[in-house]
Amino acid sequence: MPREGSTKVLRWRLPVSARGATAPPSCAVPQSEAEELDVARVGRAVVIGAGFVGLLAAQVLARHVERVLLVDQDQLPAGPTPRRGTPQARHSHLLWSGGARAVERIVPGALTRLQTRGANRIALPAQLLSMSSAGWMRRFAGEQYLLACSRDLLDWTLREEILLDGAIEVSWGCQATSLVGDQHQVRGIRLYEAQHRREIEVSCDLLVIATGRASRAEDWLVGLGLPAPPTKIIHPGVFYVTHAFQAPRSMRDGFPLVSIHPSPNQPTLVRAGSLVPIEEGLWHVTLSVIRGTRPPARSQDFIALARQARTPFLADLISLAQPIGSVRVTRATSNYRKYVELLPAWPQGLLLIGDALTAYNPFYGHGMSAGARGVLELDGALSDGGHEFNSRAVQRSVVETTRVPWAIASRQDREFAEHSSRPSLTHRTTMSFLRRLLATANEDPMVAEAMLDVYTLSKSHLRLLSPQIIARILIGSRVPPLDHPPLTQAFYC
Ligand SMILES: Cc1cc2nc3c(=O)[nH]c(=O)nc-3n(C[C@H](O)[C@H](O)[C@H](O)COP(=O)(O)OP(=O)(O)OC[C@H]3O[C@@H](n4cnc5c(N)ncnc54)[C@H](O)[C@@H]3O)c2cc1C
Repeated sequence: MPREGSTKVLRWRLPVSARGATAPPSCAVPQSEAEELDVARVGRAVVIGAGFVGLLAAQVLARHVERVLLVDQDQLPAGPTPRRGTPQARHSHLLWSGGARAVERIVPGALTRLQTRGANRIALPAQLLSMSSAGWMRRFAGEQYLLACSRDLLDWTLREEILLDGAIEVSWGCQATSLVGDQHQVRGIRLYEAQHRREIEVSCDLLVIATGRASRAEDWLVGLGLPAPPTKIIHPGVFYVTHAFQAPRSMRDGFPLVSIHPSPNQPTLVRAGSLVPIEEGLWHVTLSVIRGTRPPARSQDFIALARQARTPFLADLISLAQPIGSVRVTRATSNYRKYVELLPAWPQGLLLIGDALTAYNPFYGHGMSAGARGVLELDGALSDGGHEFNSRAVQRSVVETTRVPWAIASRQDREFAEHSSRPSLTHRTTMSFLRRLLATANEDPMVAEAMLDVYTLSKSHLRLLSPQIIARILIGSRVPPLDHPPLTQAFYC
């Protein structure tokens, strides 16, 4: 926050960044007033937040506008190492194929680069051991997949791919504090420059806010004279604990992703859990634990807690592995959606994107994929040269990309939500359909494929409403459900 000194107005006298990822420059500092650029010229964009979505947005903007500045409060590391601004990176992160394809469109070659650095491409559901509320899913061949690696590796690789050519100017160690403009037009952003303990203003034609869960965008909108956007929050009533393990040598290559889903009929201390095989033969294991439970302090407590899940399968696996590092805890599990599209006005030149707009219970793993798809909307709008850039229309199309992941997370989590009211008939009917869908998908490859097409954000949700799929769901499966995980001989332990 600003502490001293008056506000200095900065007009694009920004240091031209060479090699953002390897030699982070400091905040923007004007050298002389004479060198200031003419603010009336169009084509300047600022992105606040150099996390996953902010990086992708900067890359897209760099293709279309004259100059792009990417700002973050952190000094970004020159390698796959943790930083303060993305505390969630200590927990499992996976990228569904719908998100991975979006990343590949925005940054061609990024997925290959990630895989050469050890990210695992996991075929769905062939390399999946998934226990839904309806039981274990069989392993079929399918078109969808996910990419699994540590979040630090993912962000570092994107930083390298996006920033190394120097086309995007970067300012690290600058915290955005408020918007410049009014409810009709955003003209820039105020930044607090920690190194010089002063506030500066940067003007721009388009401001993209990608400040994640820590976002204060709603306060900033109020500062422009707009009402705060109506916001819906659903607390799933859990916190997360994550521990890394070195997989046993025989279980390193091609090990499946393990996912134990919640079941309203089986209330347990550990509501859900996952094992994500990442680079360097590591497993990231995350447990979703009922609020009020004491978080495990040591590795053996973590393994003991894993045994409280609906199945001891995860605990059995990790008791064969070598614990690495310490147990990490996060309480950032709530779902929230800011209904910015309902505001009476939306300033031209402003876009809210990623977790700053909508966030989901991390169990569903949708935040990055939905964010990347939102960036594709921005790309589409900027590519449409025939039309003037209309921020409100673009903001609405970004909101559209959040609808399906929001419906998935909010519907499921309402089943567990604290202080939730009696569910409506529509909700109960939808949940009953979803339970049948899960039970049928466990046994029926065609229904499983349709479900994963939607769940991975690869295809429209209407895919599940085709007459053929509906008929199969209503008839249900004729195969008896599996009562054990479908391990192959190679991974039998
Ligand atoms: C425990 C956990 C596990 C998750 N697992 C998954 C998963 O498996 N798959 C998935 O898709 N998603 C997952 N998510 C969600 C995912 O982390 C987010 O959806 C994603 O990081 C959103 O990207 P973003 O760019 O919007 O925000 P972030 O990546 O959080 O980046 C925000 C950036 O803004 C910067 N910033 C914040 N405020 C300011 C400011 N005022 N001025 C300047 N800079 C600022 C921060 O330093 C940071 O760099 C998980 C989340 C959590 C909490």
